[in-house]
Parts: sequence; C-alpha cells; structure tokens
Amino acid sequence: MNYHKKTVKDVDVKGKKVLLRCDFNVPMAKDGSGVITDDKRIRAALPTIQYLLDQGAAVIACSHMGKPKGEVKPELSLKPVAQRLSELLGKEVIMAEDVVGPDAQAKAKALQPGQIMLLENTRFEPGETKNDPALAKAMADMAEIYVSDAFGAVHRAHASTAGVADYLPAVSGFLIQKELDFIGGALANPKRPLVAILGGSKVSSKIGVINNLLEIADTIIIGGGMAYTFSAAQGGKVGDSLLEADWMDYANDMVKKAQEKGVKLLLPVDTVCGDKFAPDANIQIVKTGEIPDGWEGLDIGPETVKLYCDAVKDAGTVIWNGPMGVFEFPAFAKGTEAVAEALSKTEAITIIGGGDSAAAVQQLGYADKMTHISTGGGASLEFMEGKELPGVACLLDA
Ligand code: ADP
Ligand code: MG
Repeated sequence: MNYHKKTVKDVDVKGKKVLLRCDFNVPMAKDGSGVITDDKRIRAALPTIQYLLDQGAAVIACSHMGKPKGEVKPELSLKPVAQRLSELLGKEVIMAEDVVGPDAQAKAKALQPGQIMLLENTRFEPGETKNDPALAKAMADMAEIYVSDAFGAVHRAHASTAGVADYLPAVSGFLIQKELDFIGGALANPKRPLVAILGGSKVSSKIGVINNLLEIADTIIIGGGMAYTFSAAQGGKVGDSLLEADWMDYANDMVKKAQEKGVKLLLPVDTVCGDKFAPDANIQIVKTGEIPDGWEGLDIGPETVKLYCDAVKDAGTVIWNGPMGVFEFPAFAKGTEAVAEALSKTEAITIIGGGDSAAAVQQLGYADKMTHISTGGGASLEFMEGKELPGVACLLDA
C-alpha cells in the first residue's frame, strides 16, 4: 500500500466547503446522561479542524458513534460531541439534525468560511456501513473537498470513510498523516534492528501481524496469553492457561519460519501463574512448560522480563502490539510495566499499536515516553498485517 498521501497542506481550502471525517466515537456514560467520559478523540481532531478554520474553510465534520445499525438512536446522537467540540474550539459548532437530510443540506449550504458544523451520526444512515454510493454522493455533494482524519475507522470501507472519495478530491488530515508516517515508516523503512513485541490474549487475532512482521523484523518477542499456545505446541504443560489448540501447528510453523528467515523469535522462559483468573489469585512463578494443573499463566516471569528488556535495549525501532500479561490486575501487570519502562529508556523509535496496549501504556504512566501511540486499535492492527486500508487507499497519492 502506498501510504504517501496528499494532506490538507497540499490543497487550497480557502473559501471551500470541506467534508471532514473525524473519529468522534467517544465513550459515553452508561446512564444515558450524554456525558462524554473521555474526550481524547475529540481533542485529537483539533489540530486539523483548527487548521482548516484558520485557512478559511467551511468545515462540515462527520463521524460515527457506536453501532446504531442504520437506525436513528437518540442515545447515540453526536449532539454531546458538538457541545464538547464547541467548548474546546471556543466557537459555535452548528449541529445538524440528520446526516444528509434536509436539515444537514440546508445548514451545509448556509455554512460560511471559518464556521464549523457537525452532521449526525453517520451510522444512523443504513447506507453508511454498506458503503452505499448514493449516500456517499449525497455527503460529497454538500462539500468540495474531503479530508479524512479518522484513523480509527480507515480499515472500514464505509460511505463516509472511503465512498465519498469517489466524488471529491480526498486528502488526509494531520492525525492520519502522523499514523502513516510512524507506522508506515516503521514497516517500510525501519531504523534497525526492528524489534516487534507481540502479546495480548490470542494467537488467532495476531496471526496476520506475526506473519507480516516475520518478513520485516529482526527480532520478534512473544508474550501474553498467546505464548501458551506456543508452549503447548512444543510439548509444554500449560495448566489452565489460555490455549488455542487449533493454532498449535501454526505456532510451530512460525518458529520454523523464523529460523529459516534468521529472525530471532523469543518466547517466555518463565511465567507468573495464578490459581484463578482474579486480582487476588495466589501466585507462583514457574518455568515455561511446567504450569501445574489448576494454575494459569497470567504474566511473563522475571527471567523473561530480563531477556525481553535486554532485547529492546539496542533496538532502532520497536513495534509493540499486545500486553505481556493481564495488566488489568496489578499482580499480573509487572511484565507489561517492565517492557513499557524498557521502551521508555531506549533510544529507539517506539510505536504502540493495539487498543489494550495503548491503554496499558497510558495506565502505567509511560504514554509521554513513547514516540507514537496509535489512535486506532483495529486500524493499526490491519496496518501491521500489511493489509490495504480502504480509508487510506482512497486518498490522493502525494
Ligand atoms: P491489543 O488490544 O493491544 O491488540 P489484545 O486485545 O490482543 O491487545 O489483548 C489484550 C488482552 O489480553 C488484555 O485484556 C489482557 O488482559 C489479555 N491477556 C494478556 N495476557 C494474558 C494471559 N496470559 N491470559 C489471559 N489474558 C491475557
Ligand atoms: Mg484489544
């Protein structure tokens, strides 16, 4: 995939109506009060919005929120987003009552340079997730240029993330540009050695990433729940640990493939087990492959921590996807924390992809020490799998 794309800086937006796809899929309080519990995604969109307004564009922002499945669901209205955005920008955000209906059309038509409006939740329209050309065209007809800044949604070929680009010149905003530069750069032309740290719960969800990174990385480090499938495949005892028996052959293939390619593949040598999946479980540390019945591996052990921290010390680039253990329980967060700390101390370019990994790094207090934390869990995963991202592929090449 060519990820060298035109950006907002490559087009003249002065006096133009710009359709801006954002990722305003923010978490809302469960009580239906309309309170946004984390406005990070709204704040992340500000640089592009502010730039467009400063340049004299009239901005028609849009986003999806949740899964209304093509129906109007008041609890998934973007009205609270418009209000928060207005507070952050210090200016009015005109809220449309619909996506491409009469209210949106009229407000878009009346919109003046330097003004911003927000369309309703794009997924209120059944055509959004089906990438219906009629919906894409109706959205495009309101504007003259399309700017995509919703990295969290670029792996979806929906009307507002990809379809509209069939009808308008399409460029990226600053947020997407940063993701493309860092993740794309690390994959295409990494400062070596490139070390990939892969963890999380399941091998099955990370196969694409392991496969692609086997072609690119110098070292691959395996941690998290998926490590036990590798261990079992090599004849180890894994007790009640997370195990995907169907993927054991695959795990052995990966080990073989790494050997053939000269990629260093590191697996845990010890593990922290609990006697139940709970924060107050009893704990013991055992060698890999020697987990007793009734116990489950919930974190990498101290010997493994040493080995892994050593492996990232002289890295040029580190890509990290997937926590090393059940970091949500403090007793099993040590492996993840040690790796985060090791990354914070390297000179390497450090890139964190994956929703839970990003949350772990944030929660453990290392976020500002990383070079780049991706804003799109699913999108960054597919990017690292080497897949084409429809919301990026549709943008004009630089
Ligand atoms: P990401 O979102 O970063 O891609 P995943 O979704 O693949 O990561 O995995 C994250 C989850 O994996 C976390 O909730 C964590 O608790 C879980 N996990 C990590 N190690 C283990 C383990 N040994 N056993 C069970 N779950 C684990
Ligand atoms: Mg996850």
